[in-house]
Amino acid sequence: RLPVLAIVGRPNVGKSTLFNRLVGKKLALVDDRPGVTRDRREGDASLLGLEFRVIDTAGYEDEDPDTLPGRMRAQTEAAVRGADAALFLIDARAGLTPLDEEIARWLRTQTVPVVLAANKAEGRSGEAGLIEAFSLGLGEPIAISAEHGEGIADLFEQLLPHL
Ligand code: GDP
Ligand code: MG
Repeated sequence: RLPVLAIVGRPNVGKSTLFNRLVGKKLALVDDRPGVTRDRREGDASLLGLEFRVIDTAGYEDEDPDTLPGRMRAQTEAAVRGADAALFLIDARAGLTPLDEEIARWLRTQTVPVVLAANKAEGRSGEAGLIEAFSLGLGEPIAISAEHGEGIADLFEQLLPHL
């Protein structure tokens, strides 16, 4: 059995974009509208020679964006329960939202190792969001850009001990 990584985070932070980059195929639907990934998707990833299974979790656009929607919560919890590590994504450009904080609070109660990454940080954008992410209490955030493929080596380094 391959080690399992669950990508979690509120809608629109770039979970599916990162999933597609890791899996190397466009298995997940990427869309500007929050929560457009309706199903949980799984695929095999290879990152600098490390093989693992990755789960892209979904959000729901038809539910209140200000609270962690029930079905999204259920999906996220199920994915994290079976995972060897959780990759918690935030949007470095948008900064933290109450939903990010709610997810972080929940993750801190779990035994699964959590790696925190601030996405959309290509170039030097999103530096304020990156610094803000320290306040989530989940360790040092890694700056990445799922779309541009930046920070992937740092991500690998943080995931390696857990996968
Ligand atoms: P999800 O809802 O968390 O799965 O997010 P998606 O992967 O569907 O991405 C939401 C939006 O963010 C899309 O318009 C993506 O193109 C955009 N996006 C994803 N990753 C990046 C990134 O690294 N940089 C920037 N600027 N945009 C990104
Ligand atoms: Mg998605």
